[in-house]
Amino acid sequence: MPDSKKIFLTEAESPKQWYNIQADMPNPMLPPLHPGTKQPVGPEDLAAIFPMELIKQEVSTERWIDIPDEVMDVYKIWRPTPLVRAYNLEKALDTPAKIYYKNEGVSPAGSHKPNTAVAQAYYNKMEGVKRITTETGAGQWGSALSFACQLFGIDLEVFMVKVSFQQKPYRKMLMNTWGAQVFASPTDLTQAGRNILAEDPDSAGSLGIAISEAIERCVTSGDAKYSLGSVLNHVLMHQTIIGLEAIKQFEKAGDMPDIVIAPLGGGSNFAGISFPFLHKNFTEGKNIRCIAIEPASCPKLTKGEFRYDFGDTAGMTPLIPMYTLGHNFVSAPIHAGGLRYHGASALVSQLLKDKLVEAQAYQQIPCFEAGVLFAKTEGIIPAPETTHAIAAVVDEAKRCKEEGVSKTILFNLSGHGHFDMAAYADYFDGKLSNHQFTDEDLKSNLQKLDTPKID
Ligand SMILES: *Cc1c(COP(=O)(O)O)cnc(C)c1O
Repeated sequence: MPDSKKIFLTEAESPKQWYNIQADMPNPMLPPLHPGTKQPVGPEDLAAIFPMELIKQEVSTERWIDIPDEVMDVYKIWRPTPLVRAYNLEKALDTPAKIYYKNEGVSPAGSHKPNTAVAQAYYNKMEGVKRITTETGAGQWGSALSFACQLFGIDLEVFMVKVSFQQKPYRKMLMNTWGAQVFASPTDLTQAGRNILAEDPDSAGSLGIAISEAIERCVTSGDAKYSLGSVLNHVLMHQTIIGLEAIKQFEKAGDMPDIVIAPLGGGSNFAGISFPFLHKNFTEGKNIRCIAIEPASCPKLTKGEFRYDFGDTAGMTPLIPMYTLGHNFVSAPIHAGGLRYHGASALVSQLLKDKLVEAQAYQQIPCFEAGVLFAKTEGIIPAPETTHAIAAVVDEAKRCKEEGVSKTILFNLSGHGHFDMAAYADYFDGKLSNHQFTDEDLKSNLQKLDTPKID
């Protein structure tokens, strides 16, 4: 008889604060720069698009930040999420490794993203905001924020990357059901969108383009705020509820991971599950390996350059010190839409530069293979983004078998794939390809950048 398969926390046991890694980083991240003056951005520069409380969190070096009761009450709809031991997957791999996953797919929107969406909607509400603009790639962020805005009575406009808008019609329906308006980006509603369409009327869109549109729409409308679902420090901090719960659950199970793995798009779910374990590394002398998994067709961490770059395509955001493929980069239309972002969070980038976290890149076909194996053994159909983590888990578990060592591996099941079945259909029909990313592509793209380099 195995020990318990699921390790639950009660609501009373759930963490009541988020963890801010900025309090503990050996080298703090470099300051984001104003795109015009190239000077560090101040709170006043951000006040046009974000509520003040989130700006404060963005620059805070307080280690622990209280989760407001109103946010906690909404979290209770699906949190604490279960930590699950993947016994069947272990058996299928015949590995001595112990594999656990944190199931963030149980949220109303089906991913980890409501953890920050709910917090952001709350702080906007507190400051009297009536309307928010945002972008979405695969539709996960848009649906999470639609859900959150609906609960707090805020109107939402979502610019959805066109290729996903076409591939995932039911994500749009989800957003509409939660009361949001959804546009296929690039649109002709903004100058940024019109510029792109003039150059390429068939543009499939990109997250960078959609961000430009959502920010422009916010700034030009006057009465709206803007919200981002990844990359920024406050977003990553809201996600630490995942890792903080996991630590309590591992303590209950009498275990602790050696390796923590998560997929990486902008870095929020990876940060969410791994930063609390890095806190253990920093303060308890532990050596828990934290590995971010990115797609080989959009390999910013493993092949990008650490430098200042824009977060969007039109160059409206502050310059962010991060690993980037260049803000003009448009990834091949792989099915893991949430991982097709040209850059990565400044916090994760700094930690990678300091070798405190690791990164690996995977092709999409082995990821779907791992995702199907997981579905067949553990029952849950993972989001295409999540399959990247699972492919890496499978490889680590196989390595444990070869080396005859037992390690404890934790991964973040960042979302379920119920709205991504078209991607699975393409996989089963043999329509997917592994996209080769050439160093020439990268060089020519990075050469076009005129943003500041970092030595
Ligand atoms: C958005 C998303 C990701 C990637 O975004 P991060 O900000 O890097 O976490 C991964 N998995 C799922 C299911 C997502 O929706």
